[in-house]
Amino acid sequence: MTPFTYTAAPARVVFGAGSLQHLGRELEALGAHRALVLSTPEQEASARRVAELLGPRAAGVYAQARMHVPVETARGAREEARRVGADCAVAIGGGSTTGLGKAIALEAAGGAVRFPIVAIPTTYAGSEMTPIWGLTEGGVKKTGRDPRVLPAAVIYDPELTLTLPLDLTVTSALNAIAHAAEGLYAHDGNPVMSLMAEEGIRAAAAALAPLLKDAHDLEARSDALYAAWLCGTVLGNVAMGLHHKLCHTLGGTFGLPHAEVHTVVLPHALAYNAAAAAEAMARVARAVVSAGRPAASAPRAVFDLARDHGAPTALRELGMPAGDLDRAADLAVQNQYPNPRPLERAAIRELLQRAYEGARPD
Ligand code: NAD
Repeated sequence: MTPFTYTAAPARVVFGAGSLQHLGRELEALGAHRALVLSTPEQEASARRVAELLGPRAAGVYAQARMHVPVETARGAREEARRVGADCAVAIGGGSTTGLGKAIALEAAGGAVRFPIVAIPTTYAGSEMTPIWGLTEGGVKKTGRDPRVLPAAVIYDPELTLTLPLDLTVTSALNAIAHAAEGLYAHDGNPVMSLMAEEGIRAAAAALAPLLKDAHDLEARSDALYAAWLCGTVLGNVAMGLHHKLCHTLGGTFGLPHAEVHTVVLPHALAYNAAAAAEAMARVARAVVSAGRPAASAPRAVFDLARDHGAPTALRELGMPAGDLDRAADLAVQNQYPNPRPLERAAIRELLQRAYEGARPD
């Protein structure tokens, strides 16, 4: 066995249909008294429902979260938190909303003030399980790790995901699978994260077919959210490789949508790394087979999972201009970082071409 170091992150998870009702108890346990409830404008009604549930513990609602946390939005949320005297945030939504909570906690941490976040995830992006923050200024996204932005408690209530549109359900589940797949070949991986990764891929893959038939299937929604937890934990604990760096570039620099980009790029990033990470590929394929699907190879299994559930499979479908592929390849090799196969510009340019066209991997 490869030697490893394992440090468990202090995360508290409350899981189950209807578990939103425990929010008050969770705030109580944190010693928090005035929560600023965060959401996107699209989910403001949910945020207001949460505020109502909290009664006097709600300091206000800030429904301005946006993808990639623009610094202006972060500034607005911090000012609002100060104005209403909030001592914690409740973030109900996907990665964008959790990210806004992290931006407030990061600044509070800079001033050595504790500002806990209770996250209530409604997508499968997994940000709630990571100490990773992101902020975008002038079109450039900066990310970093800080244990103080890790939510103090996470409430996973599958009932809140019943409204997640089907297209985002599929791409968000593939986003989760991407964390797990890269976690399986992480240079700093460990056996516990690998167990979680394999089980996360299985649960996500198994949830999609029933959800395609009935988006309100609560059991399948629970499986998908369980997968989000497992895969998010992997993302938070081990280093990601080429796939995540490419998606970061394509999302941040070219403005492509987050979950969709992950969905399109993953099969090609896995194909790039396949020969250098045989055991990880076998585990991805095994997880997909356990979910009752065929898996001739890991890259193909993931490609077929997206295609068969109606997700996009080509970057050109997402609006990526063909003329920017060269620049994307340049950016991808600008900084070296651990990846099973060394970063080779020509091969990455080819990977991007295949992703652009939506070619099915071998
Ligand atoms: P998102 O949070 O941007 O949500 C997409 C849209 O779906 C929003 O309009 C949102 O309001 C809506 N939505 C979410 N849940 C819904 C539901 N249940 N019903 C109806 N509508 C719903 O999308 P995302 O993919 O969850 O997050 C993407 C962002 O999160 C990116 O900026 C990404 O970089 C970041 N992210 C960060 C981390 C991290 O560890 N820091 C991890 C994953 C993603």
